[in-house]
Amino acid sequence: MWFVLFLLLGLALGSFATALAARAEAGRTWTMFTGRSACPACGTTLTARDLVPVLSWLLARGRCRHCGARISPAYPATEVGCALAALAIYATHGATLESALLMAALPLLAALLLVDLRAYLLPDILVMPIGLMGLWLNPGLEHIAAAALYAALPWAVGWAMSRVLKKDALGLGDVKFCAAAGAWLGLGPLPWFFVVAGVAGIALGATWRWAGRGAAFPFGPALIAALAVLLLWP
Ligand SMILES: [Zn+2]
Repeated sequence: MWFVLFLLLGLALGSFATALAARAEAGRTWTMFTGRSACPACGTTLTARDLVPVLSWLLARGRCRHCGARISPAYPATEVGCALAALAIYATHGATLESALLMAALPLLAALLLVDLRAYLLPDILVMPIGLMGLWLNPGLEHIAAAALYAALPWAVGWAMSRVLKKDALGLGDVKFCAAAGAWLGLGPLPWFFVVAGVAGIALGATWRWAGRGAAFPFGPALIAALAVLLLWP
């Protein structure tokens, strides 16, 4: 019963994540959490029938039902990804307050992943609620100190690298995301967070180059992967 609920909720949150990502890329801030979804090509407001996760995309063969514009496979892929993440949350945390907060953070993290991969950006409006949820779940000085320390480390490394390489190595968005991760994780997992992020970053950089997208790659997905791994560690 819970299993099915988490699965369906994950699909719906994945659909919400694609909408959040599109709205963040359009420069919207607080208003991005409300309003109806519209086709980016023709502007038609989408109805319930267009918004059934995965199925509506398959039935319309990846096209808008109104104007025929192609809809990226990133949409159903995000929905499936969020459904799998929701099942992982249930498997590791059960039906608890913590899993409810993780489910609330899920569409924000998925949207950040999409936006950073496409636009090299981690918008504050998506990062900030994640940090606040982490502090709300873990009140007290330790997690506030962790937020500061998680941010200070990459900031210092980025500053040193920019002096050596004479170019910006790490974006401020990455630093702020590390603060949000620290707020969730606390001081204990700090070394693991940066080890996992480093390994994921190397893998992402290699894939980016292999795909012919150049030497500069977004680091946010590696940080998001590290946070996800440590949050789901049983
Ligand atoms: Zn359309």
